[in-house]
Amino acid sequence: MSRTPITVAYGDGIGPAIMQATLRILEAAGAQIEPEVIEIGEQVYLRGNSSGIADSAWESLRRTRVLLKSPITTPQGSGYKSLNVSTRKALGLYANVRPCVAYAPFVPTRHPQMNVVIVRENEEDLYAGIEHRQTEEVFQCLKLITRPGCERIVRYAFEYARQQGRQRVTCFVKDNIMKMTDGLFHQVFNEIGAQYPDIARDSMIVDIGAARLADTPERFDVIVMPNLYGDILSDVAAQIAGSVGMAGSANIGDQCAMFEAIHGSAPDLADDVANPSGLLHGAIQMLLHIGQAGVAESIHNAWLRTLEEGLHTADIFRAGQSQQLLGTRAFADAVIERLGELPKVLAPVTYSNSGPLTLPEVVRAKPKKKDLVGVDVFLQWREGPPNQLGQALKPHGTQELPLQLITNRGVKVWPQGFPETFCVDHWRCRFKSPAEPIGFDDVLALQVRLHDAGFDVVKTENLYNFDGEAGFAAVHG
Ligand code: NAD
Repeated sequence: MSRTPITVAYGDGIGPAIMQATLRILEAAGAQIEPEVIEIGEQVYLRGNSSGIADSAWESLRRTRVLLKSPITTPQGSGYKSLNVSTRKALGLYANVRPCVAYAPFVPTRHPQMNVVIVRENEEDLYAGIEHRQTEEVFQCLKLITRPGCERIVRYAFEYARQQGRQRVTCFVKDNIMKMTDGLFHQVFNEIGAQYPDIARDSMIVDIGAARLADTPERFDVIVMPNLYGDILSDVAAQIAGSVGMAGSANIGDQCAMFEAIHGSAPDLADDVANPSGLLHGAIQMLLHIGQAGVAESIHNAWLRTLEEGLHTADIFRAGQSQQLLGTRAFADAVIERLGELPKVLAPVTYSNSGPLTLPEVVRAKPKKKDLVGVDVFLQWREGPPNQLGQALKPHGTQELPLQLITNRGVKVWPQGFPETFCVDHWRCRFKSPAEPIGFDDVLALQVRLHDAGFDVVKTENLYNFDGEAGFAAVHG
């Protein structure tokens, strides 16, 4: 078997120690890999590269398409971009897969039956980094959810469940509030889920879903979520399974993939103390990705056996329960000594059905008939109560494009608002055609009239119908 080139980053803090331990175990297990080392992290940042990764490193990544990465330290202060976010976006790593498994009774947990995989969308949502200060008082972050993005992550979750013999996929969304963005995620979940009759599916509003995940995680199998919920809840899930020091994570794209531990560089830890298991689990996912399932299985089972024998690093060591306290290097040696053994209490793993998933290309839908029917004009204004703004704006509407309503932070304040509503200096003023579609020149002319009248237009958002269906949220109240 020829060796597969992989890019390796040793990272900061405990990064080099856990990477050495992991690579030693991989080597001893017969992994056919050819590591190419790149430098990322603190030193690169401090040399003035705000992305934390040198340009030459991208070249290795594009060639090997596989990155095994230790955690890095992000220097304190502004001006440093998150290396994780940049790598995920630049390499199109749309799926973040985090198995969170309890190893009771060897690692203490309140949830001994827990075995959950979180599949988190990794590129969209509030992480697009599109933020603006619009007025003196108001800051905005754009939440972007796309149909291709939802289709890819949801299909990935169902394909993953089928490949891994998992029974159920659950979707967490907040579509009772975000009816269009989270509503799209939910709708795509239902559409794609229907193509997998062999896998049960259900969905929950993220708040009650999160509460149940924290309380009874054993009732979940695979959970698919938009980016922000997945970011938060995958840490919760890893922690309640036993320890953040033990979970690995795969970041998967069509072309490239990145594997890592979920924890950080733990600068508070002394040398040779860290648990290398999180990165080792990332490396096991990497071996599956590059088609070396036999090696992955052998390492995972030897690791389970080591855990069972009570050979523990400090983070999971319990006097009276553990047998021996080991440092990072000695723990790696213990795993190596047990290669070829199976666990006796914990269930051994089998990876016969694992490998990279090949997903069909997303089929882009035929464009719908798109009609411009109005515009939301956002103003900075602080001269008086909402009625005053309504009266001042109304004459600038036309028969084709009249002022329909004004909201402040989403609450309708004109016409017929409540005097109790607290208002900031940011007003969304909806001008909407009562019947026929309008032209873009109507929208421009309105803005010119408003500008000439002294209004401070900070942003506009066009209102479209798609095949006659409104592409904007209705305002109630
Ligand atoms: P952390 O995950 O590094 O540490 C949190 C706690 O868990 C600490 O008490 C630490 O000692 C312990 N811990 C973490 N990994 C462990 C291991 N393998 N074995 C034993 N104990 C372990 O989080 P933090 O302290 O908030 O962050 C430290 C640095 O790591 C920061 O600079 C942060 O930006 C960075 N970070 C990087 C990544 C990444 O590169 N993927 C992820 C998270 C945080």
